[in-house]
Amino acid sequence: MSNPERKPPRANPSLCPGAAEPKEPDLNDFTSLGLSAPILAALEQAGYTTPTPIQSQAIPPLLQGRDLVGIAQTGTGKTAAFALPILHRLAAEPKRAARHGCRVLVLSPTRELATQISESFRVYGAQLNLTVATVFGGVGHRPQIQALRGGVDVLVATPGRLLDHMATGQANVANAEILVLDEADQMLDLGFLKPIRQIIGRLPKARQTLLFSATMPEQIARLAKDFLRNPERVSVAPV
Ligand code: AMP
Repeated sequence: MSNPERKPPRANPSLCPGAAEPKEPDLNDFTSLGLSAPILAALEQAGYTTPTPIQSQAIPPLLQGRDLVGIAQTGTGKTAAFALPILHRLAAEPKRAARHGCRVLVLSPTRELATQISESFRVYGAQLNLTVATVFGGVGHRPQIQALRGGVDVLVATPGRLLDHMATGQANVANAEILVLDEADQMLDLGFLKPIRQIIGRLPKARQTLLFSATMPEQIARLAKDFLRNPERVSVAPV
């Protein structure tokens, strides 16, 4: 879906202070994290040379299919930390999304963040044949309904509008394989806790679940406890 507010993710050299120095032959580059060639090519195109700390820590367990709780703020490279292994897993097991369905559901607190996340999936997945749709409130339903009709690989949505589409049968999350709750503390602040629980109730129990949050208030910790299975925990300092 097109959106005039789209901003392509840009390489941020300050995130990776060692990027210009000679590379260590170890975990400090994307190749050794186990990502596939089309994703590595897209990263090179985007100018990313070195994984950020959240990426080095989160990508290996996510590639193994583990659940994950990430304590990280925007600016740490957390979007790529979840988008890259998700794209790798989708491409490794190609499958058609069900009609009105999605293989991956990313819940985001705001329209702006949802738009950025979708754009990141498109950039990192530029060499993969995958579809991405974005759903948020405050705009017409019709283009979103059209985008959802045939099913999509990745659906990025704010909780309220997604529930609207689920209520009318235009969105169906029953076959989602991976769920990401991004900026969970923000979603709590915006009153989305109940909608999130309603949406998760419609997802299959057998799935991979990721939760990212800058802080861990009690209600978010409980959400993680209720819906994640033996999650890997990673935490990085704000940039
Ligand atoms: P995020 O925290 O996901 O919002 O990312 C912050 C910014 O850093 C975005 O502009 C990304 O495009 C950029 N970025 C993410 N990972 C890297 C990386 N490994 N190297 C350079 N820039 C990056």
